[in-house]
Amino acid sequence: MEFLMKTIAIGIDLGATKIAAALVDETGDVLFSRTLATIPEEGAAPVLDRIATLANELSQEAQQLSQNLLGIGIGSPGMIDPVAGTVHNAVNLGWQDVCLAEELKSRLRQPLPVWVQKDGNASAIGEYIFGAAQGCSDFLYLSIGTGLGGGLFAGGQLITGANWNATELGHISLDPLGRACVCGLKGCAETVLSGDGLVALFKTLGRSGANSVTPGITPASIILDARKNDPLALATLAEMGRQLGIVIAFCAAVTNPSLVVIGGGLGMAVFDLVIPRTRMELKTRVLPASWENLQIIPSQQKSSAVGAASLAWYYSERR
Ligand SMILES: [Zn+2]
Repeated sequence: MEFLMKTIAIGIDLGATKIAAALVDETGDVLFSRTLATIPEEGAAPVLDRIATLANELSQEAQQLSQNLLGIGIGSPGMIDPVAGTVHNAVNLGWQDVCLAEELKSRLRQPLPVWVQKDGNASAIGEYIFGAAQGCSDFLYLSIGTGLGGGLFAGGQLITGANWNATELGHISLDPLGRACVCGLKGCAETVLSGDGLVALFKTLGRSGANSVTPGITPASIILDARKNDPLALATLAEMGRQLGIVIAFCAAVTNPSLVVIGGGLGMAVFDLVIPRTRMELKTRVLPASWENLQIIPSQQKSSAVGAASLAWYYSERR
C-alpha cells in the first residue's frame, strides 16, 4: 500500500488501566510515546482530559518534526460508532454513551481529525497497514489477553456490523453449561481463551486428573510447565488450542479468510504450543476448502498504540 510521503499520526490505545499514546510514522515506527493511568473510577471527564493531555503533547512533538500530521486514531473498548466517534457500553471504563471524538476535539489545542474504533478493530487495521496482514484483503485478527477480542477484514474492508458489534467472539458461548462469564452468559470463548480462563481451566483439569495443583498458578507458570512437558499444563494448552479452533472454524465457514493473525500477550506467548491443536480441530469442524489454504501466524504489531495510529492512514485514504 502506498501513502503520501512523510505522514505521521497519533495513536491512542484507551484501556481500563492505562492510556498508551504514540506518535507513529508512515512505516509504523514509533517516534515518541507516552502513557498515563486511566483511573476510570474518577469518571469520564478526567479520563477525557488525560487523553487530551497526551494528544496535545504528541501534536506538539509532531510540530517540531515538520511532517504532515494526519490526525489522531483511538482504539477504545465498548461498542464504537466509528462515523460519529462515539463509545457505547464500555463496561470496563464505566461509560454508557460518550462522544469520544467530539469531547477530544473540544480539548485539542490544534484542530485535528479524530478517528475512533473498537480496540480489536484498531489492532486488525494495524496488522493490515503495518503488520502481519499487509496486502491481505481477507483475514481474521484475534487478540488473546485479559479477554478475547478481534477484528475481521473481508474484501479489504473492516467488517463492523449492524450495531458495530461484529467479531464479538469473546462472548460466543461454546458451552452453555460452562463457567460463568462476566457478561452473564456461561462458557463463553473468553472463559477459556484469556489469562484468567487458562488458569481456571488448568485448575479444573487438575482437580479431575492425578496431578496435584500448586498455588500461585499464573498463565506464565502454566506456559513454563508446558515447556518442561508437564502433562497437565500441556493438556490445558491443548484444550485452549481446541477451543480456539472452534472459534476460527465459525469465522472460516462464514468469511473464508486466507489468514488468521494471533495477537495479544497470551496469544503470542502460547502460539507454538496451541496452534497445532487448533489446526487439528479445524480439520474436524469445517470443509478442507476452509482450512487447506488458511495460514495462522503471530501478530507483528509493535504496540496497540500503533494499531490506533493506523486508523489515520486507513480512513484518510478512504475519504
Ligand atoms: Zn461472556
